[in-house]
Amino acid sequence: VAEELLAAVDIGGTKTTASVSGPQGILARVYQATRKRGDEGTIPRQVEYLVARACRNAGVVRARITALGISTASPFDRRDGHLVVVSPNICGGLARERELTPNDWTGIPLEEHLAGSYPTLRIGNDCITAAVAERLFGAGRGENDLVYVTWSTGIGAGAFVDGHLLTGKNDNAMHLGHTIMSWDFAGQPQCGCGGYAHLEALAAGPAIQREYGASPRQAFERYRAGEAKAQGVVRRLALIMARGLYNVVSLLDSRLIILGGSVSKNWDVLEPLVTGEFYAGFAPLTRGVIFRRSQLDEHLGDLAGLSLVMPEAWVAPWQDHRPWEQAPRQVVLEESAGEEGVGP
Ligand SMILES: [Zn+2]
Repeated sequence: VAEELLAAVDIGGTKTTASVSGPQGILARVYQATRKRGDEGTIPRQVEYLVARACRNAGVVRARITALGISTASPFDRRDGHLVVVSPNICGGLARERELTPNDWTGIPLEEHLAGSYPTLRIGNDCITAAVAERLFGAGRGENDLVYVTWSTGIGAGAFVDGHLLTGKNDNAMHLGHTIMSWDFAGQPQCGCGGYAHLEALAAGPAIQREYGASPRQAFERYRAGEAKAQGVVRRLALIMARGLYNVVSLLDSRLIILGGSVSKNWDVLEPLVTGEFYAGFAPLTRGVIFRRSQLDEHLGDLAGLSLVMPEAWVAPWQDHRPWEQAPRQVVLEESAGEEGVGP
């Protein structure tokens, strides 16, 4: 009997990756710019194409794939019971800045299109799947009460409570970035979703750009150099995030907070600021809460979707041998070649 093979796909606003794995490790990895032209079936077809190409690069037949796990930009909606991706970063029909998304899609029918193609298909948003991956293989191993938070150009989260992954009616649980951080909207920044005073609008990377007038990278550099303006902006950002995390822990009673994403890479600066404000909150809720940086940041593209479908028997050997660290190089597929392979 041939060994079981799994496919994993990560759909982001700019890039979509696919990989194929066997019990011993990752066999092939490919990626392409996320397609933004065509009809609403474009991205499901791109997923099929990338999985097929990953199989070809791995030298295995596509029919041996027993499960596909997809980690994707979100949120989701449901149509006729099937998950539909309604991300404004990909769907031009929902976007506020139309020039970045040259299509009129109002939803990507991922589940309906792909469900018949694989014995097992699981789809989760990029933060929920990251929480699963970190708990299996990263900073969250062995922890039943954890929240994973991405602090990047956006803010999102995924959580386990009592060892149970929170998903919700449309798999949109823990959209932390869209929680409201002020009762008064006057003078508050508008979020990409259209709301006001959302955590993402106040504390994600673009908030630094807006408040400081330069990139987050420059702001953190100048913070370290002691510049007062940069310090003011970063301190405020950290304080707002700390309050957002306090809200999370108040609701979920988490023990562990794992921070991933580009802004959180400045954890040397942010840790004392965030934790100082966080632990000043109501002690019975905040005492003993642990903060850790993500251990899988660079590997989530491979591991997030895969973690959704990984058989129990693979987990311990993967924990021991960490095969993602010896994964083959990621192969870029040219856009033109992709178009040929996909077809309408
Ligand atoms: Zn929002």
